[in-house]
Amino acid sequence: MRLSITSTLLGPGTSVPPGENLSYCLKLCREAGFRYADLDFGALIRPGFPLSGEDWEEQTERIGRQGEELGLSFDQSHAFVYRTREWTDPAVDRGLYGDRIRRSILAAARLKVRWLVFHTADLDAPPDDGFDKTRAFNLEYWKPFVGLAVRNGVGIAFENLFMSGRHPRYGMTAEDLMNLVDTIGDPLVGVCWDTGHAHVAGQDQPASIRLLGPRLKALHVHDNHGRPKADEHLSPYRGTIVWPPILKALRETGYSGNFSLELKRATAELPDALCGDMLRFLHRLGRYMIEQAEAG
Ligand SMILES: [Zn+2]
Repeated sequence: MRLSITSTLLGPGTSVPPGENLSYCLKLCREAGFRYADLDFGALIRPGFPLSGEDWEEQTERIGRQGEELGLSFDQSHAFVYRTREWTDPAVDRGLYGDRIRRSILAAARLKVRWLVFHTADLDAPPDDGFDKTRAFNLEYWKPFVGLAVRNGVGIAFENLFMSGRHPRYGMTAEDLMNLVDTIGDPLVGVCWDTGHAHVAGQDQPASIRLLGPRLKALHVHDNHGRPKADEHLSPYRGTIVWPPILKALRETGYSGNFSLELKRATAELPDALCGDMLRFLHRLGRYMIEQAEAG
């Protein structure tokens, strides 16, 4: 497993301008020991960030050159996502969002991303209604995006989600994702298991990982307290996830992709000057977890 961390590390109080945010974070990652960074294309497309403008292709090349200079790879990254739950809302500009997803795929191809993470369309459904409509929507909606990714040699990994209210949500379980991926039936389409989402959704994580087996292509590693709607994105061991059986399941299924820390607070809550120190600790923590997984 290759230790990786999300590229969005600075909080809203940062003094680093948006145009320099990514470049600053990549340097911090490399200095802390990371050799893999998980590009967050949703963040990079925000106003002022490198991939928001007309020159996004040039900016993508620039990110690629910086990665090469630093010795950082982007094997697993995250596509722009939008709440497809809003698909029936006419106020949502789905054309614009679709363009952002396509931009994520094309930028990923240039940056040699092997697995790009997507969220399924996650319309809530009353339990007695089943998920047939949502499943059918997903199969239809993602078809052109999967085609574009496959033509460009980028794999797509659908990530497990969690309920936002009273009702279960499509894409919450390993079974939903396994069924979606098997129906699409392309070797470049797999699953990203998100440990924090699974904990909020009350899933049996070791059993889910075993069930997914070789379909598992990407990991988002973070913790929380398992409370409804509280997807805290804490660093591992700061919430209530029991890690040893999860690490054991990863070993037993032979998972060999990225072990990507997807933390929204560990560094973002700190002043810029202390982020590097926290990242060094997180590198140590990630290495420890991978060693635990590999040692058995
Ligand atoms: Zn995630």
